[in-house]
Amino acid sequence: MRTPFVAGNWKMNKTVEEARLLVFEMARELREIKGVEKVLCPPFTALLAVAALLEGTDIGLGAQNMHWEEKGAFTGETSPLMVAEFCRYVILGHSERRAYFGETDETVNKKVGATRTCGLIPILCVGETLAENEAGRTTEVVSRQVREGLKGLEAGFTSGIVIAYEPVWAIGTGRASSGENANAVVQDVIRKTLTEMYREEVSQAVRVLYGGSVTASDAAEFFSQPDIDGALVGGASLRVDEFVAITRATMK
Ligand code: PEP
Repeated sequence: MRTPFVAGNWKMNKTVEEARLLVFEMARELREIKGVEKVLCPPFTALLAVAALLEGTDIGLGAQNMHWEEKGAFTGETSPLMVAEFCRYVILGHSERRAYFGETDETVNKKVGATRTCGLIPILCVGETLAENEAGRTTEVVSRQVREGLKGLEAGFTSGIVIAYEPVWAIGTGRASSGENANAVVQDVIRKTLTEMYREEVSQAVRVLYGGSVTASDAAEFFSQPDIDGALVGGASLRVDEFVAITRATMK
């Protein structure tokens, strides 16, 4: 049995004071929802403040990115060890980072690999663009991102990670995939690739989320799918009622 998982990706939103206010209101309600792994991913500047508010709760903290090197001359970057001081999770390979900051399968692979030594759990994002989708390349693109993102990593490690299937055309557009379509990609592409790379038990152990314009009104449609274990939520994670309702909807 895979424990349901919901993570909120705040992206580049919220000052420290705004973050405190949001968590103060949200945490009260999220704490009441049991049997779901709940994770908030604020921007780096708010991690310390949010960590303090989440202490003693069952709500986890995640970062939105990190570098793969332990330390050194990498101005503006944050190392795995620095992230692990506050967080248990880290989002890696988000499509916005691939599109705007030059992240490639190779750099994403280095980052995922770097989580092994510091105990962070990566949330590896994969997903095809609209052009790739329309060209019928979803299987090729998503399976390549999974293969390359996990290249060289052993089965024992991979079974504990989280993968988010986020079709790029659905992110921030208000145009979510259908539950059935997302489940088909998760089952026929992501889990199948994991089985080919490792074995069936690993594929069945990995939690796979859907992400892309999830709202309270369509969350249940995704969570009722057999191969989808939760959601990576962007815009709706900034609204208390929406995020709480989405988290509740994971209880299949
Ligand atoms: C995301 O950024 O990971 C995401 C899924 O965003 P949104 O929910 O806003 O589409």
